[in-house]
Amino acid sequence: MAVHVLDAMVRDGFEELVALHDRSSGLRAFLAIHDTSRGPAFGGLRRFAYRDEKSALMDCLRLAKAMSMKCALAGVNGGGAKLVLFDHPGLDRAAAYRSIGRSIERLAGRYYAGPDVGTGTAELSNVAFETKYVTHPGPAGPGDLPGATAAGVFAGMRAALVHLDGEEAWEDRTVVIQGLGSVGQRLAVRLIGLGARVSGVDLDEATCDRARGLGVEILESGSELDKAADIFCPCAMGGLLHDLTIQRIAARAVCGAANNPLARSHHAERLHARGILYVPDFVINSGAVIRGAGFHLDGRATPLDEIEARIGEVTTDVLRKAAEEAIPPFVLAKRVAEQRIRVARNAADSERQSALGAGDAPRERATAGDELTTESTSS
Ligand code: NAD
Repeated sequence: MAVHVLDAMVRDGFEELVALHDRSSGLRAFLAIHDTSRGPAFGGLRRFAYRDEKSALMDCLRLAKAMSMKCALAGVNGGGAKLVLFDHPGLDRAAAYRSIGRSIERLAGRYYAGPDVGTGTAELSNVAFETKYVTHPGPAGPGDLPGATAAGVFAGMRAALVHLDGEEAWEDRTVVIQGLGSVGQRLAVRLIGLGARVSGVDLDEATCDRARGLGVEILESGSELDKAADIFCPCAMGGLLHDLTIQRIAARAVCGAANNPLARSHHAERLHARGILYVPDFVINSGAVIRGAGFHLDGRATPLDEIEARIGEVTTDVLRKAAEEAIPPFVLAKRVAEQRIRVARNAADSERQSALGAGDAPRERATAGDELTTESTSS
């Protein structure tokens, strides 16, 4: 496997990478902890039929880092992690998730797990048999996490429209949603309720039927990028925006829940060059981690309107400041997030040195109220 794992960890500041194998259940998984200098690491459990170890590992690392950036921008006192497990016909799902639960328990609160693609109520319940460091899917948990994510993405869409047009008359707007699952469907309901015209695609027929019943116009799969719209909303998998697809996008803005929709960072520049407003995923899809982390750390399920207001404010700031600097919002948001993480790391390092009697007083920590202004020194 031609991946220089330690080089990648050093380059992007990862703290820990664990490979998990459980003989009896057939579990094979990677857990990456990106950063814990702002607090414990939060991140979902993704079960997917990865084609090989390299693609699973790269997905794990990218998603864990994105979680740190989300937390930093949303003012969550936590960092990012991700666990990805191979889905395969021989996997004993219940036993595999219980094995994952035991591994998480051994980390003693350094990592809190939550839902993600392939991990829903049943799987989380199995994890919760073994550890308390997991977002409980039942009444003992923080409640509707996809709803929290949809609230944040909607706030992002609203901020994007106001940024572009100075108003948000939804009855004059069209939105195309790729992926009509938990988040996509909630967004569709909200948008249709406001009078917007919503179309979309999903690979799953039953999901399409349900969405059709809600008033979504179902498009031919693959045609969603070419459909003229105000907003294209990716709510399926990541990596869909690359050299070939960006040429085809016929929407004025891209704003959705999918993690890491850009195949590479430089694709933000491509979208910008085409005059398409790309609202960064890690700015707007933090609703679930705001709610989940708040529940674990403070015992409070943040109300959806609070999440919406908080993410709306951050998005508006990011779009405005990026426009002032004439750079893609992605570049600005990444810079701010990385700087906040760096400040927290410096403070944590200083605290450790002070504890050893060898260092300066702790430096200032990044907090929820941080201004978006940054020095322009990050990569
Ligand atoms: P989900 O699994 O409920 O829904 C995803 C839907 O996308 C499914 O219905 C699936 O059939 C469909 N799909 C997959 N590939 C597709 C393709 N190529 N074209 C069209 N449809 C496709 O997932 P979700 O919880 O709604 O999350 C959606 C995205 O948002 C994921 O990328 C997830 O990582 C991200 N996200 C979710 C949350 C959350 O709270 N659920 C939080 C942050 C980010």
